[in-house]
Amino acid sequence: MIRSPVVLTLAAALATLATGCAGPDHWYLSGERPEVHWGYEGAEGPDHWGGLSREFALADEGRSQSPVDLVTAGAEAAELPALTFRYHATDAHVVNNGHTLQHDEHEDNHLLWGDERWNLKQYHLHTPSEHTVDGFHAACELHLVHEGADGRVLVVGVLAVAGEDHLELLDNLPSLPAEGGEEADLPVAHDPSGWLPDERTYWNYDGSFTTPPCTEGVTWIVLREPIAVPQAFLRAVGGILGRNNRPTQPLNDRVVRVGG
Ligand SMILES: [Zn+2]
Repeated sequence: MIRSPVVLTLAAALATLATGCAGPDHWYLSGERPEVHWGYEGAEGPDHWGGLSREFALADEGRSQSPVDLVTAGAEAAELPALTFRYHATDAHVVNNGHTLQHDEHEDNHLLWGDERWNLKQYHLHTPSEHTVDGFHAACELHLVHEGADGRVLVVGVLAVAGEDHLELLDNLPSLPAEGGEEADLPVAHDPSGWLPDERTYWNYDGSFTTPPCTEGVTWIVLREPIAVPQAFLRAVGGILGRNNRPTQPLNDRVVRVGG
């Protein structure tokens, strides 16, 4: 019993060394997924995440959780920095990790926001959207996960609805990895800037990752204009992922700003 505090201290020190930064640590960045099984329905669903593991306690106890309902009339108009996306096509490797379809990115794709450079680490999909607007879901939401120089995390959310744009997404449909644990090199290299709408005003609030351990300290930017993607794309991705959206969380005393 005497050894326990020492072991714990050592473990904490090693954890600090492993992460090497003060920002939120999450498997979406580290690639090391939690060993505790979690999902989107039943006993492993979002209502139970906080009880599945002590490490997931923030899912129940956090006061700054994501996603949230973005209430148009409740957002505070603000002078917010413009978004400058420096994205281009890189490789076309996509992973089905059992929770989402994810592209891992290279260091040169980045976003300039608020006098800072934010490197795109990965991007992934949710069906339907996780954020809602005045209570309504979009068919799909893309999360572009960025990391700042000091380890802080900024996620850009893009809502997608059914339409006739982005027909290029259909080229890769037959090659998407359908089962958890599968990965694939797609025929067409994907350019994440293709997911950005022309209009770049956005909502901004302080939140969390939307998957366990639901780490807080995440800067959220959700673009106000949805993009239109083919119905066949939504049907195929929805068929692979099922519903992988965490329900919206209480805003508590946070403010949602709107501007850009
Ligand atoms: Zn996400």
